Amino acid sequence: MLYYDTISCALDLNAAGKRSGWVDLAHSDHIHAYSAIRSPIGWIGSGSGPVALIVGGNHGDEYEGQIIARRLFAELQPEDMLGGAIFLPALNMPAVTSRSRISPLDGGNMNRAFPGGEGQGPTRGLAGFVTRHLIPRAQLVLDIHSGGGTSEYLDATYLTLTGNAEADRHNLELARVFALPWTMVVPMGSTGGDLDSAALAAGCAMISCELGGMGTLSRDSLRLGWQGALRLLAAQRIITDAAADRLGRVKAEDTRFVDMGGGSRHVTAMTQALAEPLVGLADHVEAGQPVVKLHPLFDLGAERLTLTAPVAGYVAIRRTGAMVQPGDHVLTITPGISPDTLT
Ligand SMILES: [Zn+2]
Repeated sequence: MLYYDTISCALDLNAAGKRSGWVDLAHSDHIHAYSAIRSPIGWIGSGSGPVALIVGGNHGDEYEGQIIARRLFAELQPEDMLGGAIFLPALNMPAVTSRSRISPLDGGNMNRAFPGGEGQGPTRGLAGFVTRHLIPRAQLVLDIHSGGGTSEYLDATYLTLTGNAEADRHNLELARVFALPWTMVVPMGSTGGDLDSAALAAGCAMISCELGGMGTLSRDSLRLGWQGALRLLAAQRIITDAAADRLGRVKAEDTRFVDMGGGSRHVTAMTQALAEPLVGLADHVEAGQPVVKLHPLFDLGAERLTLTAPVAGYVAIRRTGAMVQPGDHVLTITPGISPDTLT
């Protein structure tokens, strides 16, 4: 039995075989006073070899990763494994069941809650369970995100540069194997409290990604993520090549690198308006190019406002809703970057 804070898990994550169970969270509010909040967990292992931790539902309104983790567990068998894999398709189950980015129990954003802690609420408790009991068993962590309800992303792998040349080279190699159409290069710690930071701090290889978004499920993004997962798990000797091929693996294509760190810029609304994008996701824009037209909401006679691209680059993120308030980002522009300059 594994325990952390108010969380427990009875699943055996050591012996060979295929098993599923639950991570149980005890949270004594009015609704859950006599309940466990259950998040499914699975294990398939050969009994030796490297282990991957495969996570979906870190944010509750992102669906591609939830399906990829569930599908991998359903379709892989113990004989497919060279190592082992822990499947956690609904890491923040309270957020998943409420179709929300964050947990309704404590307002916690799971990907800002790592490494977690005891006595700090359900979200940090669950993050702490992962940090204490799951990350130390893994050599590779795969955390699959999407844009969620508010945004749509390029289908992109995050490559986090840690400053450790060996780790960075290895993660660059993994990003090329995962081979989504885009790779977003980010500095270590750019998103404080994320699962990436906890895994990298523990010395794990780490891949996280964005697949589409808008709180919906994109078949194209799902296919790209599925393919990437098969290539990654086979390359890391978690599953056999035969299993990856049986499940439909195709060869990696080239990925295009963009700077999601210091070089990227948001295009941000400064009035309440309807935002009309003049460019689409993945379009290349020049600095100063008009990219958004703002139609002021309450005054038909008022001048429409044009927002321009602050830098040259590719449109990497776009806002889902057209109605914007001051401070809302409408687009994010990311300059291209050569992978040769990264390590
Ligand atoms: Zn997310």
